[in-house]
Amino acid sequence: MAWVRFRKKDMPGGLWTKCPSCGEMIFSKELLENFKICKKCSHHMNTTVDERVLFTCDADTFDELYTDLTPVDRLQFVDKGSYGDKLKATAKKVGRLEAMTIGYGRVLGRECVLGVMNFQFLGGSMGVVVGEKVTIAVEMALERKLPLVLVCSSGGARMHEGALSLMQMAKTCAALARFGDAGGLYVAILTDPTTGGVTASFATMADVILAEPNALIGFAGPRVIQNTIRQELPEGFQRSEFLLSRGQLDRIVRRDEIPQTLFKLFEYLVPVAPEQIVAPTRPRFEASSNGHDGGDKADKAAKDKSGSRLPAEEGAEAGKDEKKKKKK
Ligand SMILES: [Zn+2]
Repeated sequence: MAWVRFRKKDMPGGLWTKCPSCGEMIFSKELLENFKICKKCSHHMNTTVDERVLFTCDADTFDELYTDLTPVDRLQFVDKGSYGDKLKATAKKVGRLEAMTIGYGRVLGRECVLGVMNFQFLGGSMGVVVGEKVTIAVEMALERKLPLVLVCSSGGARMHEGALSLMQMAKTCAALARFGDAGGLYVAILTDPTTGGVTASFATMADVILAEPNALIGFAGPRVIQNTIRQELPEGFQRSEFLLSRGQLDRIVRRDEIPQTLFKLFEYLVPVAPEQIVAPTRPRFEASSNGHDGGDKADKAAKDKSGSRLPAEEGAEAGKDEKKKKKK
């Protein structure tokens, strides 16, 4: 799969994108190259699964698995329309069969199991297939002794699947408990928004919980809470920075620093022999923030292995050459 090149369909809303936070008009290609972070106000815009893979993994390394697992409308659930019809329409619109994508990938040369939730698919809600895919991802990581990374984004359990969706909370947690007992490393990356049954299960069961800046993270939404307790909520309630100050998160990480942060965590917590680290083929974008020192060590390791910080096209070509070599 070619994740390297920026395809036209990856570009949100045409040539220019308006930042929903500060209103700045940004050239879409530039925005994508900046990890979909607004250069003016650092707002982290929502991403598709393909973009998330592009922003996280080395180029051409993500091998998506279990793409054919399809949800079933067991309860014949109907609200404004039938759940079955909604599934078909959403799959057609989003281009995937469920709200969870899993596979093997490499982050700055380190192999891992990566799962990415898709908020565009029925609000990233967790039904039977999402639970099953999380469980399979855990088992893949367990079997091959790889670090597990789950990028979470969800509105919670999928009401269309009733109690079956709630059972996924127990199922995913049980799998993660086995993984934890075996000494596996699980890193969760909470993105905007991560709520409901996902927050209450696998998203917060991680050994290391990272979050993107200003992400909404909670169980019930702030409006529901405010209406229930009839009290003014504190400023920044349920946002990453608020949760970090209360010890619910380990670290807030800018999206462009996530690969370096993951690499560092892998190296500290599940180190491997240097020969097991494959030279990264990721297109290297220019660092966007002012003076951040994120991932100096990882950068150095990447530089040492690949020789230099390659611009996007050269990086892609280098990756191709490596693949060709493998084929020979
Ligand atoms: Zn902005």
